[in-house]
Amino acid sequence: MNATTSAFERIYGKTPEAAGFAPGRVNLIGEHTDYNGGHVFPCAIQMGIFCAAAPREDGKLRFFSENFACDGIVEYALGDLSPRGVWADYPASVIRAFSAFGSPIKRGADFCFRSDLPDGAGLSSSAALEVVTGTVLKELFSLPVTKQEIARIGQFAENRFIGVNCGIMDQFASAMGKSGCAILLDAGTLEYEYAPLGDAALVIVNSGVKHSLASSAYNDRRRECEAACRAIGVSALCALTPEEFEKKQNLISDPVCRRRAKHVVCENRRALDGAAALRRGDLAAFGVLMNASHVSLRDDYEVSCAELDFLAETAQQIGGVYGSRMTGGGFGGCTVSLMEYSAVERFASAVKAAYLDRFGIDPAIYPITAADGAAARAL
Ligand code: ADP
Ligand code: MG
Repeated sequence: MNATTSAFERIYGKTPEAAGFAPGRVNLIGEHTDYNGGHVFPCAIQMGIFCAAAPREDGKLRFFSENFACDGIVEYALGDLSPRGVWADYPASVIRAFSAFGSPIKRGADFCFRSDLPDGAGLSSSAALEVVTGTVLKELFSLPVTKQEIARIGQFAENRFIGVNCGIMDQFASAMGKSGCAILLDAGTLEYEYAPLGDAALVIVNSGVKHSLASSAYNDRRRECEAACRAIGVSALCALTPEEFEKKQNLISDPVCRRRAKHVVCENRRALDGAAALRRGDLAAFGVLMNASHVSLRDDYEVSCAELDFLAETAQQIGGVYGSRMTGGGFGGCTVSLMEYSAVERFASAVKAAYLDRFGIDPAIYPITAADGAAARAL
């Protein structure tokens, strides 16, 4: 945090009045279920985005990010926060979104951000940026919003203004994370419960690729899920159990949409079963579900890629690894693997060597601890 407040002082020539942090997240199981009214099981991670801020009296909003220092200070007026195609559109859109939640922002402010989260890697740097902005704003202007509302404000900003049709998982995990726990979240109702991760290590491997297919395929998948809903006559796919789906799946005439729906319905069950397995301390059972999730994302939802398949399959063969799968939207980004603590070093060197040999990429490897959600304080 000190580095962020010093950067603020250097950039703006004054001291910040509030500072905060919002974590990135990794989803352990329950992928592509959130926008289908299903369950997800993410945890906040120790990497994230720091922010320091101070109010201004002239109605200007100024944003600086150490990670995008070449863009300098990006300035907006309170009355015109429309996106311009730059990174600062994220915090500007959050400020704009506060109005829709009954707490319009009436004063200007200066912001400085600093991140230790790789951006665009599927660890939700965009949600961390939105949630840290909301959390620091709440502190700076004493706004009567809850953590859950800050998550919804972030999602609203990203959906409505940035134009990314994301579900609520990322912002929820960043705002509501709890140290040592994953969150079983019903994305349909926002009911949630924490499940302790137990005595195991979580390791993220960044494939280092992001295929251009990602955003168009995401929109295709959402359309395919909607078509499957219409064919079966449900408002959300996760209203169905796998058993009900089995009986009704023939109503979906398009075999592609049928496979998409099968993934979503079964993945929702895997998320519920996974949380139950962790609750009874059955890490092996959780690992089996992670591996099954990867296969389903690869074959039925078709959002994996050669790099992610290789990383997951390599991990699954290493002794002491309970399970491994792609995490996030797909077509690149990261895998997440659950293993015995004693396996971490062996895992890291084996995966590094194999991936470098196969794809010529040295993958970043991050041992993860499940962390608390966003927080801010006055300075
Ligand atoms: P992800 O959320 O998976 O990391 P996205 O493509 O959704 O990937 O969001 C990445 C975008 O978020 C970046 O292109 C940038 O606009 C913004 N962003 C992320 N981290 C930072 C940061 N530290 N400073 C400024 N903008 C950031
Ligand atoms: Mg994002």
